[in-house]
Amino acid sequence: MRQGRTKYIFITGGVVSSLGKGIAASSLGLLMKKRGLRVSMLKLDPYLNVDPGTMNPFQHGEVFVLDDGSETDLDLGHYERFINESLGADNNVTTGKVYHTIISRERHGDYLGATVQVIPHVTNEIKSRIRLVGQGEHPADVVICEIGGTVGDIESLPFLEAIRQLGLEEGYENVLYIHVTLVPYIESAGEVKTKPTQHSVKALREIGIQPNILLCRSAQPIKSEMREKIGLFCNVSPLAVIPAIDAETIYEVPILLHDEGFDDMVTQHLKLFCAPPDVSDWKRIVRRIKNPSKICRIAICGKYVKLKDAYKSIIEAFVHAGEENDARVELEWVSSEKIMQNGAELYLKGMDGLLVPGGFGDRGIEGKIEAIRYAREHDMPFFGICLGMQCAVIEYARTVAGFQKANSSEFSAETEHPVISLMPDQRGITDMGATMRLGKYPCVLQPGSKAFEAYGTTEITERHRHRYEFNNSYRENLLAAGFKIAGLSPDERLVEIVELADHPWFVGVQFHPELKSRPTAAHPLFRDFIKASLKFHETLEKNALSVESKVES
Ligand code: GLN
Repeated sequence: MRQGRTKYIFITGGVVSSLGKGIAASSLGLLMKKRGLRVSMLKLDPYLNVDPGTMNPFQHGEVFVLDDGSETDLDLGHYERFINESLGADNNVTTGKVYHTIISRERHGDYLGATVQVIPHVTNEIKSRIRLVGQGEHPADVVICEIGGTVGDIESLPFLEAIRQLGLEEGYENVLYIHVTLVPYIESAGEVKTKPTQHSVKALREIGIQPNILLCRSAQPIKSEMREKIGLFCNVSPLAVIPAIDAETIYEVPILLHDEGFDDMVTQHLKLFCAPPDVSDWKRIVRRIKNPSKICRIAICGKYVKLKDAYKSIIEAFVHAGEENDARVELEWVSSEKIMQNGAELYLKGMDGLLVPGGFGDRGIEGKIEAIRYAREHDMPFFGICLGMQCAVIEYARTVAGFQKANSSEFSAETEHPVISLMPDQRGITDMGATMRLGKYPCVLQPGSKAFEAYGTTEITERHRHRYEFNNSYRENLLAAGFKIAGLSPDERLVEIVELADHPWFVGVQFHPELKSRPTAAHPLFRDFIKASLKFHETLEKNALSVESKVES
């Protein structure tokens, strides 16, 4: 429903980081879409990197890759999963991108002798990028823009100044400011405290932004007296103080916020006239996530096992796949370095499936290879993603195809058998930023393969982020040794999916399927991996029972 001019909603955060601004923004996106509005989402990140592609996942969490190949903040993953749309490069703006544009323009002489300054040049560039996402080919009724960081950070000041100016330029009823804060519960006092929220809003008002709605994160319900107190001190209506109580699953947040009147407040302020949202499908999904009848235990063998944000989309893809299989997927994080020390059996015995995710560098590689060997030899369902697929190729080449020294040239430049090697067009590249094989590529599936069975079609597209590839010089040898190629690029030059013929479910993919899984449609490979793992679980149980009965008889 086209409503006329584009409206802007800004979401800032206060008190502490990790308050779930991304989930709040995504939930609002979903509720607005379900009201029939066209929504676009934008994340402003205050760091100086042009994109998070060059950042260590330990610091920044997962790099979320979009169809167009841009490497973005993991919040874009939440946006796509909630609003069920594919976003593009314009939907994530960093200080690095803004300054890159301005400095190139300055070197080009475009400022005609002017002194280039934060105000107006940087703030103008930020405003034009905010406006850009609401215009163009797919104009939006509402642009939801989340500002990274916490109010009070020095580095986010130009963004806050830009959104203040934009509010003035667009007019009161076209712009809405939402501030997400924390209302902590103090055990010894036995009550929730409003002071941190008061201070955070004060900091925001000092720079000229009066929030219209406060989303108050809290572990405890916030009583109406407290809502009134917060409203009074923060200069907002008590009705606009919306409690955001901790939810059991993030997919419940839109439903809870809707019940608190959140989206009504938003549409009233912005004078958007539309019907209330129908969230019955999300209610059904949440009910199934919360009440599964089965349990499935999956081992994830990776390097960053201590930082779950590094595997955000994989974790979410398992929630979706579990929901569709009526199962709760319990993830067991296994450090590949521990496997190198103690062997795979100690960690994998009793598990229902093994996933080896993507990654870079040689740390822990031998542990991943050992884990894959265990899964292959024990008929345990295996799912290898990107680096995980490459490790599966190395393992098979070494153990079955007889290339004992097989390796990836990423880990051993001089290896005798580089079964995984650099693509010709990657040779000679020295710049690190945005130089990998990135974004959406087509793949043709082999009928009869597990992948074909899962997708139910021969033509798919998936997102990539890697430099190395299956080395075609070893294709014939590996095929002769029992390896199966289940997916190829349309020109048949690039091996995208490998499988094993004589294994219940062994699939390695060169792309990142987790990036396209949605709560309303689990990724077919994740869904089938869980299905196979549940089946494996049953055989494990049956075997255990028959051993027991033999011992007893
Ligand atoms: N390091 C490997 C490559 O660059 C795998 C990358 C990944 O898992 N995303 O090819």
